[in-house]
Amino acid sequence: MKCIVFILLLVLTVSSIADPSLDEVMDYISSAINYNIDVRKIKVWALEDYWEHLLIPSVCQYLFEEMEINEHIAPEGNPNRPGEKHEIRYITVHDTGDFSFNAGNWSKFVHDAKIGKTPYNASFQYVVGNDGYYHNIPDDEAAYHAGDGHNSTISLFREFPTGVYGTQEKPHVNISTDGYYTIDGKKSIILAPTDEEGNILDESYFNDMGIYTSIKDNMYYIGSTWYSDTYNKIGNYGGNFNSIGIESCINKGSDIYLTWQRLAKLVAKLMDEHNFSLEQVVQHHYFSGKDCPQTMRTEGYWNHFMKLVEVEYQILQYKKSGFIFELIPLTSDYVYKNGRIGCRINNLNSMKLFPLNSITNKCTMKRFNTEGNKVFPRRIEKLKIQKNKCGISNEAYGPPMFHEQTIKKSKKWSDIEMIESYTQTIDSLFMKYDIKPEEIDAIITNCSAYESEPSLSTMIINHYKIQKYHILFFKDKL
Ligand SMILES: [Zn+2]
Repeated sequence: MKCIVFILLLVLTVSSIADPSLDEVMDYISSAINYNIDVRKIKVWALEDYWEHLLIPSVCQYLFEEMEINEHIAPEGNPNRPGEKHEIRYITVHDTGDFSFNAGNWSKFVHDAKIGKTPYNASFQYVVGNDGYYHNIPDDEAAYHAGDGHNSTISLFREFPTGVYGTQEKPHVNISTDGYYTIDGKKSIILAPTDEEGNILDESYFNDMGIYTSIKDNMYYIGSTWYSDTYNKIGNYGGNFNSIGIESCINKGSDIYLTWQRLAKLVAKLMDEHNFSLEQVVQHHYFSGKDCPQTMRTEGYWNHFMKLVEVEYQILQYKKSGFIFELIPLTSDYVYKNGRIGCRINNLNSMKLFPLNSITNKCTMKRFNTEGNKVFPRRIEKLKIQKNKCGISNEAYGPPMFHEQTIKKSKKWSDIEMIESYTQTIDSLFMKYDIKPEEIDAIITNCSAYESEPSLSTMIINHYKIQKYHILFFKDKL
């Protein structure tokens, strides 16, 4: 299913134009805009059970909102807060695998170390959901989320020299028939874990993200690993003691994509603080073989999620150089200022979008009257029906067919109609946000309905007599 209906005007306020250049920043943000909103019906999973959800991406891969983290650190001495500090090497992504609880609920469970009267021994540094971000265990302390053991003398991240030389960044790791790790076919001096009966395993038992390797002085090193008899997988150590664990909520009825974007924003912030690369962002699965984060994995959204992380990280770098990003949606009933698409879907199989804030019939009538257009009752009736059916927003434009007896079908008329409709919308935005045309630095438009000649951006620049030198950047995308 595809839905391509959004028109955006992106106003970028710039307080520093040193390094990087505005062109670079604008090219980047414009490449991060989702011109096609690819809506999919997915299953949100918790073990064998699921709920159906229409996953709607945002208009941009960057989430236009600030992060406010609720500090709710578990008390020292809690059984789920061991307090050990080791080198942090990873960020571990989870989902809660639970349909009932939101982030606030989970935060309380970790903080109180119990769910109701039942002791709760697990813990994680952060939990994210539609209800916000919560911070429960200090970033540099161990927490029990990765399922790779509670004893740091065993389950700490370690690397061992393999005795195999090479320079491949991602060498092929396997296990020899006598139980040693092999690297690109060469036998190492490191014994691989066996199953619980002592059987020698092979690469088919590796977790999906593989075994950690690194290169020092042209020699391969391999990370400490173990065999999980729960999941029948070989995982890497370092989950509980060397990583920052983040849970993401999947509670029923929540906006899963919003949670994923917030999760990506938090991951990007932590990557920035710890100077991490994208390779250091891993799934819970990497440590124990557990199918977690299950919905992203099962529905094939891990790479999509990592792209959100990459974009959040890059925009964070631009923000640190003094750039400010703000999204001003033209169709404000459909697109929120954070870039989420605000709509109710009446039926999982149809793609009719309904605005959340619908207007009264009176308001629509008044608009037509005050603009001096002749009101044709039958047409207004038609408009009302349309409004009730598919929604017409406060900024909606009534095309001439609603107040003209004959419709003129020509390219010229289409262009006039188009610029009329957009300027009406843009005018109301100028009023609403108290912005003057000459204050706009950059314009990005997206119009899937009609290709104008000259381009829509050019038409807007000409209409408002914004001299070209006022505009630092403009771009149309169809
Ligand atoms: Zn997990």
